[in-house]
Amino acid sequence: METIQSDVVIVGAGGAGLRAAIALAEADPKLRIALLSKVYPMRSHTCAAEGGAAGVVKGDDSLDLHFDDTVGGGDWLCDQDAVEFFINEAPRELTRLEHWGCPWSRESTGAVGVRPFGGMKIMRTWFAADKTGFHLLHTLFQTSLKYPSIRRFDEVFTTDLLVADGRIQGCCALEMRSGAMLQFQAPAVILCTGGAGRVFPFTTNGAIKTGDGMALAYRAGVPLKDMEFVQYHPTGLPGTGILLTEGCRGEGGVLRNKNGDRYLKDYGMGPETPLGEPVLKTMELGPRDRLSQAFWHEQQKGNTVPTKWGDCVYLDMRHLGEQKINERLPFVRDLAKSYVGVDMVSEQVPIRPVVHYMMGGIHTDIHAATPLPGLFAAGECACVSINGANRLGSNSLTELLVFGRRAAESAAAYVNSDAPPIDTAAADRQAAEAEARIHALFDRADGGETLAGIRTAMTDTMETGAGIYRDEALLTDTANTLAALRRRQGGIALKDKSKVFNTELTQVLELACMLEVAETVAVSGLARKESRGSHQRLDYVDRNDSDYLRHSMAYSQGEEAPRIDYLDVVITKSRPGVRDYSGAKS
Ligand SMILES: Cc1cc2nc3c(=O)[nH]c(=O)nc-3n(C[C@H](O)[C@H](O)[C@H](O)COP(=O)(O)OP(=O)(O)OC[C@H]3O[C@@H](n4cnc5c(N)ncnc54)[C@H](O)[C@@H]3O)c2cc1C
Repeated sequence: METIQSDVVIVGAGGAGLRAAIALAEADPKLRIALLSKVYPMRSHTCAAEGGAAGVVKGDDSLDLHFDDTVGGGDWLCDQDAVEFFINEAPRELTRLEHWGCPWSRESTGAVGVRPFGGMKIMRTWFAADKTGFHLLHTLFQTSLKYPSIRRFDEVFTTDLLVADGRIQGCCALEMRSGAMLQFQAPAVILCTGGAGRVFPFTTNGAIKTGDGMALAYRAGVPLKDMEFVQYHPTGLPGTGILLTEGCRGEGGVLRNKNGDRYLKDYGMGPETPLGEPVLKTMELGPRDRLSQAFWHEQQKGNTVPTKWGDCVYLDMRHLGEQKINERLPFVRDLAKSYVGVDMVSEQVPIRPVVHYMMGGIHTDIHAATPLPGLFAAGECACVSINGANRLGSNSLTELLVFGRRAAESAAAYVNSDAPPIDTAAADRQAAEAEARIHALFDRADGGETLAGIRTAMTDTMETGAGIYRDEALLTDTANTLAALRRRQGGIALKDKSKVFNTELTQVLELACMLEVAETVAVSGLARKESRGSHQRLDYVDRNDSDYLRHSMAYSQGEEAPRIDYLDVVITKSRPGVRDYSGAKS
């Protein structure tokens, strides 16, 4: 097996991974950086982000206001020291991106433009039309090309972390074009592998978002934090789950039920605002958890519209006019035309809530370090935690930049001071075992199971039991079903025996990751007997700060269901209060 010696391995070349690579190269040009990605970097999910990235830039805004919106939006489950660090760094990072060439949309004066976004009281979301992620990722990718110390390994699928003497020694990965295993020996690894929306059937997430990094860390003994908090975005296109950005509502789009009512006014989301005027923090620009929950209630009342794709409500953009839609939202106009055959200039677009983002992830401290020495994590796979029980739209792209850099700085400091030398014998042994496990998959006996069968059973049970509203019986059933599916996956025999781009093999590996991640969602949800942010229990309808103002920590117990423990939330200046989106205080 080929062995590559590095100082830092970064797994994932999306926004967080590329930002980390650049920061490492800048911190110390002598560091040998290996950047691994299971797809070509520009195909990472960051590319799909549409709406924008938050950071204080205008005179009427302040760091305190961004802090308050984020902490309140997260239902006080955010670590406030991490949020403070985040909002302080955000404007610097977005400006740095500007200097690297990111084409932020501008006002007529030439100043950077900002748009309203859900749960943000003030306009602070920087955007590049409705292709922000595409431009952000391009900017990072082209900047990363300047640094010869960044060695890229594209289409290389990480299968195992190497751990010995209680610390990281590197990782093992499958080179997809040859089927060969590679060993990367390094004292530090940064996981930037993105989210896990694919554990649900209806999601905005690309097919590669299968929670691999979360599972790798979990298997290595690192807890997954706050996994029960799964964000539904209120405006997904039915059928495909393709996202219509929150920028649609930011620009003035409204939601209507089958009677044409702007129903959000019935859910404590404030008085109906005049059409065409920007609204902030109320009605359509309330936070995503509240809007998705309102859809569920409308569905129970029979106020949704039955379509061939299931129940929907409408996104109405008609009053914005063709010129504004073309200037600000050209991409979403195309998406609605192509995927549901509707032109938003003249017709209402059917939409429904769709799984979008994992607030939970690999437990890290404020330095992006996990409890396992040498292992760091940043981006959507990590939980640092700035998103608490509900992420505000547009905080995530900025989080990639702020904590991607932070993880790199922490890893560089670790490598240059604390890190003991690699235990090469132990690393070699583990790599050989990992290779043998992969080879054994080709010889597995046919137990009558199929990849698609188990994957569908997993996504179905997640939707039924761990969706927008949950209860004890549903979550218990989902947890039991997932435990059974984890056992049953051993009965999938590989039909494709080839070495070259064997996607059946990588999908089997991804499925194993998804099942473990899904189980942490269900079991953490079962243990949290309260309703907070995106975790809504029909049997425990209130928030319960005395028992649950704490992070859930899911620890792997191998074949068994995870053990759930708790960690106190860091509170610096904002005591838990009432989340008010009625407009009374805005
Ligand atoms: C449609 C959509 C629109 C969004 N819009 C916005 C928005 O407007 N504003 C906002 O703030 N947020 C938005 N988000 C959320 C945000 O885009 C994501 O949270 C963020 O881009 C995740 O970035 P990341 O770097 O953590 O991971 P990703 O960009 O998902 O990259 C993950 C990387 O890990 C690699 N990887 C994964 N597993 C392995 C493995 N086993 N081996 C090797 N490599 C691996 C992948 O190849 C990839 O390079 C949106 C999300 C979606 C889905």
